[in-house]
Amino acid sequence: TPAARAVEVWKVYGTGEAQVQALRGVSAEFERGKYTAIMGPSGSGKSTLMHCLAGLDTVNAGTVYIGETQVTGLGDAGLTKLRREKVGFIFQQFNLLPTLTAAENITLPLAIAGRQPDKAWYDTVILTVGLGDRLHHRPSELSGGQQQRVACARALVSRPEVIFADEPTGNLDSRSGTDVLNFLRDSVRQHGQTIVMVTHDPNAASYADRVVFLADGEIVDEILSPTADSVL
Ligand code: ADP
Ligand code: ADP
Repeated sequence: TPAARAVEVWKVYGTGEAQVQALRGVSAEFERGKYTAIMGPSGSGKSTLMHCLAGLDTVNAGTVYIGETQVTGLGDAGLTKLRREKVGFIFQQFNLLPTLTAAENITLPLAIAGRQPDKAWYDTVILTVGLGDRLHHRPSELSGGQQQRVACARALVSRPEVIFADEPTGNLDSRSGTDVLNFLRDSVRQHGQTIVMVTHDPNAASYADRVVFLADGEIVDEILSPTADSVL
């Protein structure tokens, strides 16, 4: 089974004149251990698709799966469990808790779920974050790139089925952005992680194994092994 799957998904906002068909029968599979970028013009439905896949938003028709779990139709308890155990999130704004250290931020999702980190895996993740003793500093004492690597580690530490990244490099200079993109690509190549990333940036998309293009709520194209030029 794919790590995530959308089958004929429709998402409609509003009613009557104000109605927007944000997704119009979208079907897509996100294979395990692959890095997919979703691109398309502003308003084409990229965020909506990601939110529907991750169980942050409900669909009007069609079905969404994360691994073996049918997300569509889950109640609140099921959705909470899904978000805690099966998916990880990386946001443009990092969303770290300012009063916690980097290390505490990384283990927070596990703490909330009442789970112990797998020691060997935790050490691996920490090593790849490459913060050294800054691991015990608060986010305000870290650069943007370091903060985003912490957010990546936080998404990775519970070994989710899929990590969803929404413009992860949108707030970073190009060098920090490259650091974060390398981190994400290494998590796919070395650890078999599955990543779905929304981005406007052709350079960011070139790190993915595949790019899916949305326009007006429909998938209009798909490219394998993209380069920055081929996705422009
Ligand atoms: P993208 O991420 O590609 O910019 P979105 O998924 O954010 O596109 O939006 C797709 C369409 O749905 C847009 O027309 C947007 O205005 C609309 N939309 C998104 N979220 C909402 C919402 N909560 N309420 C009403 N319309 C929305
Ligand atoms: P992005 O920059 O990823 O395209 P947007 O700025 O379109 O995101 O949307 C940011 C948030 O606002 C999303 O959660 C989206 O669902 C919501 N949103 C987008 N368009 C509308 C809208 N027309 N009405 C209400 N909420 C919207």
